[in-house]
Amino acid sequence: MSDYGRLVPEYIRTLGGYTPGKSLRQAQRESHVNCIKMASNENPFGPSPKAVAAMQSVLSESNFYPDNDASDLRHRLSELHQVQPEQIVPTAGSTALLGIIARTLLSPGLNAITSERSFIVYPIATQAAGGKLIQIPMRQDGYDLDGIATAIDQNTRIVYLSNPNNPTGTIVSAREIDRFLEKVPSHALLVLDEAYYDFAQYFAAKRNFDYSHALDYVKQNRRVVVLRTFSKAHGLAGVRVGYGIGPTELMTYFSRMRTTFSVSSVAQAAALAALDDPEHTRKALANNAEQAETLTTGIAESGYRAVATWANFIYCDVGEDAAAIAQQLQAAGVIIRPLGPWGAPTAIRITIGTPEQNQVFLKAFRKVMERAAVR
Ligand SMILES: *Cc1c(COP(=O)(O)O)cnc(C)c1O
Repeated sequence: MSDYGRLVPEYIRTLGGYTPGKSLRQAQRESHVNCIKMASNENPFGPSPKAVAAMQSVLSESNFYPDNDASDLRHRLSELHQVQPEQIVPTAGSTALLGIIARTLLSPGLNAITSERSFIVYPIATQAAGGKLIQIPMRQDGYDLDGIATAIDQNTRIVYLSNPNNPTGTIVSAREIDRFLEKVPSHALLVLDEAYYDFAQYFAAKRNFDYSHALDYVKQNRRVVVLRTFSKAHGLAGVRVGYGIGPTELMTYFSRMRTTFSVSSVAQAAALAALDDPEHTRKALANNAEQAETLTTGIAESGYRAVATWANFIYCDVGEDAAAIAQQLQAAGVIIRPLGPWGAPTAIRITIGTPEQNQVFLKAFRKVMERAAVR
């Protein structure tokens, strides 16, 4: 018998893998119906046509390695955010950067802190680096920043804050983070994960809410790294590109930790072109804000309460086995995410779709939940 387990450190032997949202193809094979995917917070309108054209135009140069420093993209982002290009590190999605941050700052004996029911990659990245993740119970489906501040100890190196939080859709105000930062000691880094920045900022403007001072912290040289991605509002999840913004010295270490050439030339071209098509993003944001209301209302009409969202998905505790509900919704042609792996076995997360997709979901939800109520 082979015994490779002996060669592998315990923290890697016991590492759980990532459970992705079910793919369309797999769901259709299982349920024998055409499905729509509302499970992975993807942009339902697809990528910008300009991004598609830009990707096509570089395909014939695929024999060349990409620019390892993604110079054009970094310069473009540095102008956009008014920071130095050296403060920006593009990676193959921001989940790659989460792994880099963990491997750079953690090792056995050290810890990171976050909230329970937060982004599922935080535990994986932390454990893969040999660190321990401390998860603080939630307050009203959101981050308990006081609880997190109290839990920080001398071995803490990272605090992960998903704002808005995936999967609950809740937000923490800029003022709350201002105050929290005062309590983070100098040996810990605050990772402000703003994967849903564009959606949250759109809601914040409408609701007259002060959402994010993240870039101000970076400009004030605070111990903060801000994560953004092209996967969500820009509709480029499949090509893998995101980035971090932070203190130059720290970003230089992160940059060295990257897998060489990991942001492909196709991804770099797509990201640059996506930035040139704000109209495409705006359409997704406007649809999202309008349809968030439609979905929340529709779910309430079925007798369930969705948590008010600041992102492109809806969190709802249905009080039933969520995996079974997800299976029945899939049989009705809609893939959503049951949140058992997040420690919420009776909650589901629905990505906000096009108006048509949302109607298909609401109809299926009504039918499935009526049946569940009868049982
Ligand atoms: C989607 C998401 C990301 C980014 O994913 P990438 O596709 O790797 O850029 C990061 N954080 C959270 C909380 C997310 O939901």
